[in-house]
Amino acid sequence: MERLQKVMAQAGVASRRRSEELIRSGRVKVNGSQVTELGMKVDPDHDLIEVNGKRLTLEKKRTFVFYKPAHVITSMHDPQGRKVVADFFRHIPERLFPVGRLDYETEGLLLMTNDGELANRLLHPRHEVGKVYVATIAGKPDQMSIRRLEQGVRLRDGWTVPAKVRLLSHSKADQTSRLEITIHEGRNRQVRRMCKTIGHPVIHLVRTRFGFLTLEGLKKGEARELKAEELRRFE
Ligand code: URA
Repeated sequence: MERLQKVMAQAGVASRRRSEELIRSGRVKVNGSQVTELGMKVDPDHDLIEVNGKRLTLEKKRTFVFYKPAHVITSMHDPQGRKVVADFFRHIPERLFPVGRLDYETEGLLLMTNDGELANRLLHPRHEVGKVYVATIAGKPDQMSIRRLEQGVRLRDGWTVPAKVRLLSHSKADQTSRLEITIHEGRNRQVRRMCKTIGHPVIHLVRTRFGFLTLEGLKKGEARELKAEELRRFE
């Protein structure tokens, strides 16, 4: 059960404040009865809500964790006909969109949702959730370079905020290393640019975590819907 004005705002009728005004001025009916007092709670899936005589249609809120493969565009449509994330969700009737983006070549965890409020909350810089990447990079970074990445490097759009960086492994045979990098920002191609700045360009990049969510149980191209208790952890 949710407050009527919240449900109205989520359905895109108006802001919460304006929805309250609509209720007070008698323009809203729930199950055929006019409501003029604030505070009423409704079940958006079962109650019939009318605003100015028009039925409110609410899409069920749905959010999926998706394992984006490489060579897929984080977009709903590509004018050049390349593969886009929406192609993996054609069977879902709700209009999903991606929360943030992963580069064309980057694979890993991407959230897809039709819940605009949730997406705004997750992307808001004030409480942007931690995102973990595993980057395969050229060469072997020394302690100094790793510390630079952690403390912040200067990119053309400013310094990065502190990150957590761990050297996972180094392969002598092909002269590459794997780094685990946790960042709380979401700038364009950020991890690639950070690693390039310290002289170790990224060869392969995977996002393995988004907040508390992981790719566990998912193969590339697969998605699973988040459960109510998982969504509550993002509130
Ligand atoms: N950083 C990158 O460089 N690419 C991504 O897709 C995400 C973070």
